[in-house]
Amino acid sequence: KLLVEEALDRKNRAAAPPRKFRVKKGGSAYDYVIVGAGFAGSVLTERLAADAGKRVLICDRRSHVGGNAHDYYNDDGILVHRYGPHIFHTNSEEIFDYLSRFTAWRPYEHRVLAQVGDQRLPIPINRTTLNRLYGLDLSDDAAAERFLGDRAEPCHPIRTSRDVVVSQVGTELYRVFFEGYTRKQWGLDPADLDKSVTARVPTRTNIDDRYFLDRFQVMPLHGYTPMFERMLDHDNITVMLGTDYADIRGQGLAPHTIFTGPIDEYYNYRFGQLPYRSLEFVHETHDVRRFLPVGVVNYPSEDVPYTRVTEYKHLTGQVHAKTSISYEFSRPDGDPYYPIPRPENQILYKQYEALARQLDQVTFVGRLGTYKYYNMDQVIGQALATYKRLRLRHGVTDPI
Ligand code: FAD
Ligand code: UDP
Repeated sequence: KLLVEEALDRKNRAAAPPRKFRVKKGGSAYDYVIVGAGFAGSVLTERLAADAGKRVLICDRRSHVGGNAHDYYNDDGILVHRYGPHIFHTNSEEIFDYLSRFTAWRPYEHRVLAQVGDQRLPIPINRTTLNRLYGLDLSDDAAAERFLGDRAEPCHPIRTSRDVVVSQVGTELYRVFFEGYTRKQWGLDPADLDKSVTARVPTRTNIDDRYFLDRFQVMPLHGYTPMFERMLDHDNITVMLGTDYADIRGQGLAPHTIFTGPIDEYYNYRFGQLPYRSLEFVHETHDVRRFLPVGVVNYPSEDVPYTRVTEYKHLTGQVHAKTSISYEFSRPDGDPYYPIPRPENQILYKQYEALARQLDQVTFVGRLGTYKYYNMDQVIGQALATYKRLRLRHGVTDPI
């Protein structure tokens, strides 16, 4: 049964840990404390408890499970993602099979349009985008390739997020689709961001307008949150929500900690703060069945303050007389959502990583724990790989 500890009053927590979490004589109350109930923390909790038979305490400072993938039914009864659109896609059958133990799925292929003037054009750039933007009739891949080839400005080496795009489509298309969006999203010019950021959005010469090409493109049939609840529903698992690691740290609750929050926070910012980009989500419900033609519309122009708008019913397949949407405004401060891929940030992260390597009792996992701009499936893959390593390192091969 999923045991959810209600948020405890901060003062009480400071005074004494709840009785049941006191260290037992002659050993720890748990085998593992896991910080963060997003994908990284939940997958490791599930594996350690259900596969290795370990006693696991998982805590999250938020009042819910799921981390940034958390979803919920709003006051109008519409399923929305609290922290922006989360679309599951992966090429890994192992990861898909693993999650399938906890949820049924609905097929969903994500499509995105970019608002350019009064047109809404497919992004990633494809042949339709070019034909509609320039009033052309490029009839096949070869024609589109020639068109882009004439505009591309090759550069060597390709280092930055500007280089990646300009070398494929030239400066004009780069400005229309990437420059403004990236400046808004990251507060940086693409020339100051690692190439991996815009390389996430490829250029196509065919008319495939799907945002992702992965083999598995699905959404949890009943939402992400019930999937997480099933993962954590085990006798060996105790879930403490509304609980910051700081509140239970140093109490000897377990010999090993798995930390999926920001690694610089764990070390009290010893080498300085790692930069993260934050977002503000403005959620609205409208009294119409459909608000957008596709799940997400991007706004590359810097004249518009938000980066994208999402209509959740496209993603969830829910049928409802009303519809809920969210606007995303990028912010320098707030909850840490995106590690910022730049060489100097990587150098700072490496300092923290080196510290982490010296500690056998703590393992860092996840987007914030390892400062990597990972999608959900990559975080799950990283967590499953970490579990395999832990089995060897901590001898968790024998279930207790
Ligand atoms: P998180 O989900 O961030 O979980 C970490 C948890 O740790 C949080 O709940 C936090 O509250 C908790 N925590 C941190 N510090 C502490 C502490 N000190 N004490 C207690 N708790 C703590 N991926 C996709 O595959 N597809 C998408 O479409 C997609 N869209 C995205 C859209 C947005 C706007 C964002 C921000 C991300 C998106 N992602 C998407 C990425 C996805 O959110 C992440 O890959 C995934 O959620 C990371 O899981 P995690 O467990 O590493 O981190
Ligand atoms: N990007 C852009 N214009 C777009 C879509 C993406 O400039 O219309 C750039 C931008 O820098 C963005 C990055 O490509 O941060 C990655 O886009 P993705 O949609 O993968 O971002 P995420 O969903 O992770 O926020």
